[in-house]
Amino acid sequence: MRVAVISDIHANLRALEAVADAIGQAEPDEIWCIGDVVGYGPQPNPCCEWSADHAAVCLAGNHDLGVLGTLDLSLFSDDAAVAARWTREVLSEAARGYLAALQPSATRDGVALYHGSPRDPVWEYVLSYDAARDALHDSTADLTIVGHSHVPFAIGEGEMVGGHASDGTEVDLQGRWLLNPGSVGQPRDGDPAAAWLLLDLGSRHATFHRVAYDVERTQAEMRELGLPDVLAERLAHGV
Ligand code: ZN
Repeated sequence: MRVAVISDIHANLRALEAVADAIGQAEPDEIWCIGDVVGYGPQPNPCCEWSADHAAVCLAGNHDLGVLGTLDLSLFSDDAAVAARWTREVLSEAARGYLAALQPSATRDGVALYHGSPRDPVWEYVLSYDAARDALHDSTADLTIVGHSHVPFAIGEGEMVGGHASDGTEVDLQGRWLLNPGSVGQPRDGDPAAAWLLLDLGSRHATFHRVAYDVERTQAEMRELGLPDVLAERLAHGV
């Protein structure tokens, strides 16, 4: 069983199209999405449609819940709240219904999936070895996948080996591992290219991928719609 894992699409359709092309060439058995399909970006409805059509499992992220009104937008940064309110206005009924049915955690083929972390599936950012150790402790699965931080990583239990996973990183998943595929639509590890992860659950192997996309086109779409400029600008820098 081979699985393409994606997270944090954030309504960036141009990034999603590039990742979908790369995934198509890899011909995985399933696609899993770790949440935040919408928020920040300019194309929430087509991103929800794509996810509904292609993702065998999709989690709810904090931005998805903020747009739905399940989470109070006072918990968000100002720019994120502006984008979430805009998304709420333009969201189709079909996309709203799709997002409303999602949960922030799931188990699929023995793999534990959380948007944030096992102890706080919606909000906690796993961005340190201490947080990763806690997440591995709190999960009962051998393989646990989180999203939310927009930073791709692979960390193995015990020696706490691994860390940031750049393009082309390959990991042999013997023992217990915590993975983050990184973000499709708003990478934050200094590499603006869209991130995705290919898992082979049979041979226990993970390969981290990046794919360049037309960042300037997404930026132009955001500016045309009046979304906060800082959200467009950061895409060029991968921060
Ligand atoms: Zn996110």
